[in-house]
Amino acid sequence: MIEEKLRKRLRRAAILVVCINLSLLVCGGIFSAYLRAARNQTMKEQVITEAEEYKSRIMKQLRADFQTLSTLSVFLKDASYSDWDLLAERLQQTQKYTNFVNIVYFSRDGKGVLSNYEGSILTEAELSDLSAEGQAAVEKSLAGEASVSKLFESTISDRRVFVYSVPVYDGSEVIGALAASDHIEIFSDILSGNTVLGGGGYINLINSKGDFLVRSPKTVVKDDISSIFDGPYLEGDSRKEVQEALQKEERTFSIFTYEGKKYPFLMEPVGLNNWYLFCVSTGDGLSAGTDNSVRIIQSIFITVLLLIVFLMIYGYRALRNYNKDLLFLAYHDTVTGAENMTRFRQKLADSLSASGGSVTALSIRQFPFLTEIFGKTKSVELLCHIKETASRHIKKNEFFCHDTEDRFYLFFQETNPEIIRRRLEAFTSEIERNALNIRTDYQLALYCGVTLSSAGIEPELEAENMLTRVQFALDKAKGGHSSTIWFFDTELHKQEELENYIESHMHHALQSREFKLYLQPKINLKTGRLDSAEALVRWQADSGRTIYPGQFIPLFERNGFCVNLDLYMAEQACRQIRSWLDRGLDPVPISVNQSKLLFFDRDYVRNLTCLLDRYQIPASLITLEILEGLALENVDELNARILQLQEKGFRVSLDDFGSGYSSLNVFGSLKINELKLDRDFLMNAPSQNQGRIRLILEEIVRLTGRLGISTVAEGVETPEDEQLIREIGCGVGQGYLYSRPLSAEEFDEKYMYVK
Ligand code: C2E
Ligand code: MG
Ligand code: MG
Repeated sequence: MIEEKLRKRLRRAAILVVCINLSLLVCGGIFSAYLRAARNQTMKEQVITEAEEYKSRIMKQLRADFQTLSTLSVFLKDASYSDWDLLAERLQQTQKYTNFVNIVYFSRDGKGVLSNYEGSILTEAELSDLSAEGQAAVEKSLAGEASVSKLFESTISDRRVFVYSVPVYDGSEVIGALAASDHIEIFSDILSGNTVLGGGGYINLINSKGDFLVRSPKTVVKDDISSIFDGPYLEGDSRKEVQEALQKEERTFSIFTYEGKKYPFLMEPVGLNNWYLFCVSTGDGLSAGTDNSVRIIQSIFITVLLLIVFLMIYGYRALRNYNKDLLFLAYHDTVTGAENMTRFRQKLADSLSASGGSVTALSIRQFPFLTEIFGKTKSVELLCHIKETASRHIKKNEFFCHDTEDRFYLFFQETNPEIIRRRLEAFTSEIERNALNIRTDYQLALYCGVTLSSAGIEPELEAENMLTRVQFALDKAKGGHSSTIWFFDTELHKQEELENYIESHMHHALQSREFKLYLQPKINLKTGRLDSAEALVRWQADSGRTIYPGQFIPLFERNGFCVNLDLYMAEQACRQIRSWLDRGLDPVPISVNQSKLLFFDRDYVRNLTCLLDRYQIPASLITLEILEGLALENVDELNARILQLQEKGFRVSLDDFGSGYSSLNVFGSLKINELKLDRDFLMNAPSQNQGRIRLILEEIVRLTGRLGISTVAEGVETPEDEQLIREIGCGVGQGYLYSRPLSAEEFDEKYMYVK
């Protein structure tokens, strides 16, 4: 029970610990997810801001280049009409101060001058001398538009170039177009700096097909690839997503994985020629600071979590130890450290469900005095010594406990009384030998009450029964000066139980008329008709159980209650006779059994005569049956009382003659009216001594006849019995042959007739 409670408490604590930790983990997870999202957001914003910045730098570069061309176009205006040499000279000069790969001028009629960075010059050139991209750009400018061509491979430098082109005006009229080509790498300086994303990223320039225009030397993907769709950059969904975004000229933010690491990237349209900035964050730059703080927060969080887990484990262990202590206290005795009664009870029930055994209750003679004389320490020492000895004497699957004071209980897996006795004798004599260690005359004695288990009873119930029974056995064992072992006796106990019931219920039973009058007929052997009746008591308890006189009369004789009961029965007899008289029936005398205590009671005769008066019946109808044992003590006194009664008109009968103390002397000296031969005579009649018994009986009957005493034979059970008593001259017979004792109603019905 207690164990179960404690286990539940521990389980609850463990669940609590797990729940708290789980919630902490969930909170931690949510918190770090939040931090990561915040960090990603910050990083995204950083990348976008950075891309915008680089975009504007590129645009600035383009604008600066256009500006250069526009300024140059103003200076070319004068020369552009006819003087090709002057034009060529100016272009060559400009070439020196710029990084353009080549510069060309074309007039509206399609004639032009080409100057390249190597210093060569071509006058009177045709548009067709230019690359297709160059031509397109020039034509756009001749139409009045400034433009930038797509990238193409330069035949001069064998590198990828693009062409800027501006119209040359004379007033508002376009007179020609000035174009210059430049390596795409002019953006490399812008893009390949170490400051991209605070050093934590790099930027490539790509076109709408994903081809690299400018590839940053800091790229994490070291493979030699020409498009972002080659190699490991984009796979699956993100590839599709990026392709769509490139077509729509939209900003895209996504992630690619390379060598197991994730890299967020941004595709930002430059706003020119469908070019895009492909910005990749390597995570070690600006966002690294955020990352660090996330990491610090995560570490703090994990430390706190670990601390809590540690505290909880510590708390849990403390609680478990505390529970263990509680459990120990709940199941152990604090004096000796042995297990206590609660534990013993549990173990006993468990053991009985597996096999039988015996329980011994042990106590020490005069333990309180022992404590008083030798002191508390010595008595505790003795208890501990018993505990030590018991633990050595019990076998596997056996156990014992110390209950209160000097009480020990032992369970032996043994049901053979002889073996149990031998084991207990060995146990107690070892205790006696080594106990106390005091040089005195004090004789240590141990009382052992033992009970054996009964089969077929539910273990818990039987455990309780055994613990009750063993108390009775111990009570029996107590009292002597030496160690005693007493086994519980079921029959004896039942008897004691009944006596206990009788004693505690007798007064109530008398008041509530539970004692009933039964009548057994006495038959006149000459006529065969009813002579008289004997009043016999039956106790019909309210539980429905009938208790017979043999079970309670001896006890009532000991405790004196017989006086009350006999008077009550005498009154019932008087009441019965009165009832017969009142009903006009021919009454027969009723014999009432009288106990010794009542017979010598001072008020006895007066009480009886009072009854006769109350019921108005003649004393001759009442015979008082006394036991011959009464005569043993004082024959004179007995005779005096008999005389008193006879004077009042009562008849006196000597019951159970021959049952024990009978001596013809006694019988001869008593002034009785009737002699009832005990049924032992009839029982012994068929024996070997048949002849002798018969002779004795004949003598007795002859003697009583001569003394004017009538003879009644008790216990007539068979026709042979009847024949025997008839032959020896007995006048009246009583026994089962005629009838068992009957209730008053049954008796009336069977024997009483109207006169
Ligand atoms: P008892 O006075 O000798 O009564 C005769 C007993 O023998 C009765 O037992 C009766 O039932 C029994 N008996 C009669 N015929 C036969 C027979 O053929 N065979 C056998 N085996 N037994 C027979 P019961 O009623 O059990 O009474 C037992 C004794 O208890 C009586 O012996 C008497 O001494 C005493 N007793 C009964 N009622 C009272 C009472 O009211 N007061 C007192 N003081 N004692 C009573
Ligand atoms: Mg009798
Ligand atoms: Mg008798």
